[in-house]
Amino acid sequence: SPVHLHSFFDMVIGTLSNEAEKKQIRLLVDVPNELFMEADEDKLKQIFLNLISNGINYTLEGGQVKIQASIDKNEGEEKIVFQISDTGIGIPKADLPRVFERFYRVDKGRSRNSGGTGLGLSIVKHLVELHHGTLMVESELGTGTTFTVVLPLLQEHADEE
Ligand code: ATP
Ligand code: MG
Repeated sequence: SPVHLHSFFDMVIGTLSNEAEKKQIRLLVDVPNELFMEADEDKLKQIFLNLISNGINYTLEGGQVKIQASIDKNEGEEKIVFQISDTGIGIPKADLPRVFERFYRVDKGRSRNSGGTGLGLSIVKHLVELHHGTLMVESELGTGTTFTVVLPLLQEHADEE
């Protein structure tokens, strides 16, 4: 069923606002009001809760996590491009290819505070693939990290033909 993305992100941000306030991290949502997409809202919620809470966990006090969404109309099928970018500690180049692996954590020392298990991003990757999307990460150590999720605007209904 259609998900209104602006309201969706208001709801997601709402569930993380306490965590963000504790670290004085600003959560910014830059999502056009007219954007709707077809998706399983629970799965969408798991994807973005994981990415945004990572942004909060791996960003120092006073930083910011920004959520952007826009439509990409290039060649054929319409897609939605989401970017979750933070001003956080970043990920070393050597670790970037591995962060989507189950239980992989960059540095047990530095991420100990979050009490995580290293499963979050592997679940995100799985859910994005279930939606026939793609997931990418770019990062600069000490500057910040951006996760890009590209999802089709419409689901395929092959079973309805
Ligand atoms: P959890 O299972 O609770 O999510 P986690 O956050 O450690 O635990 P993932 O979400 O899979 O696990 O992330 C894997 C690792 O990638 C993290 O431990 C962290 O080192 C690194 N990481 C993830 N997101 C970021 C980010 N936004 N900035 C810096 N490092 C990150
Ligand atoms: Mg995590």
